[in-house]
Amino acid sequence: MSWSSSGSGPDLTGARARRGANLPRIGDFNQAVVLDALRRARHGLSRADLSEHTGLSAQSITNIVRRLAERGLVTEQAPALPHGRGRPAAPIRLDPAGRFAVGVHVDPTVTSVALVDLTAAVVASRRTVAASATSPERLTTAVADAVAEVTAGVAAERVLGVGVATPGPVDTGAGVVVGAPLLPGWERVELRRLVREATGLPVVMHKDTAAAAVGELWHEPDPADFVFLYLGTGLGAGFVVNGELLPGRTDNAGEIGHLMVSPDGPRCHCGQVGCVGASSMPRTLVGEAVAAGVLEPSAHDAGDVEIDAAFTRLCVAAARNAPAREVLERSAARLARAAVTLCNALDVGAVVVGGPAWSRTEPVFLPILREVVAATTEARRVHEVAVRSSVLGDDAAVVGAACLVLEHSFSPSPATLLIR
Ligand SMILES: [Zn+2]
Repeated sequence: MSWSSSGSGPDLTGARARRGANLPRIGDFNQAVVLDALRRARHGLSRADLSEHTGLSAQSITNIVRRLAERGLVTEQAPALPHGRGRPAAPIRLDPAGRFAVGVHVDPTVTSVALVDLTAAVVASRRTVAASATSPERLTTAVADAVAEVTAGVAAERVLGVGVATPGPVDTGAGVVVGAPLLPGWERVELRRLVREATGLPVVMHKDTAAAAVGELWHEPDPADFVFLYLGTGLGAGFVVNGELLPGRTDNAGEIGHLMVSPDGPRCHCGQVGCVGASSMPRTLVGEAVAAGVLEPSAHDAGDVEIDAAFTRLCVAAARNAPAREVLERSAARLARAAVTLCNALDVGAVVVGGPAWSRTEPVFLPILREVVAATTEARRVHEVAVRSSVLGDDAAVVGAACLVLEHSFSPSPATLLIR
């Protein structure tokens, strides 16, 4: 970015590097390339496969695998039964217990903490106080307690760091939650510093929607182009293109909440009517359910935690109650319109849906999203666009937050190699 050194704009390359400035890297570039190939191969790779995948010579692969094995990062196992003639190829795999990463998802309704191993599988998790119900300082203390619990059985030197996912917008360069509309009272909170000081671990930070998309990519890398629709207290998106997150200029891409999808929709805090974010929010849908006589009037006049509980009652009622179901169907149809716009803008292979509100809405939302996307995307005569639930479901952001740490620690991508 030549302009960044001229003083005419922020140094975004530097900002991106600082997002995880104090995270350790696991190895040098070639080791990162080998680790990256191994994490994408579910059943391990032979030395010959590794050589083919990475372009490194057989001798280099032998040396790198030996060094990685000495550091407890990979294992080499002889197959149980040799097949064919000659020496069987021994599959090399990541050693799951070689390193661990912590994910923290700060959300208005609940804060989640998870420990993942080197293969990004969850090995322990906790839930703690809701961000809307406490101060940043008290939340940080609760997070540190939960981190201590999930890492209790793991050697300290094997814990790479903490990934924190928060509602946007965020200033990832400064490690600051800028003041999410959904987190009243959180104005420029230096969350990265608070969590680092409270846990003593390196911290990387990103938006919840971006973390969810990264987590999905680690667990289901096919297709490599998708839109992640994140349903929580609010609505957001993560964009993945060519197997990489599209973070935007300041890591704040994905604020899709103000796409206008219905002229008769609810009024949004931005002043417009019919924004998709407002028409998908649990708070709005609970209000509509109260108006339809599905929920008691007191359900709508409450904090985020109570709204979330009322939303659960609405989703349960939708299985047998037509007015309840209609509230969700109307919202799903509006979300589907936004999904089609995003598919048309980015020409992706899939729409993936997850986040804390997803499993409750999925039975009503998923068939409607599938039907509308299949029938109306501009590219439908060229290729199919799959619509599916996230493999991480409601935990997409917390697991994704941990994956941010793995990504920073051993992805060979140029952006993360800026981190020293
Ligand atoms: Zn709006």
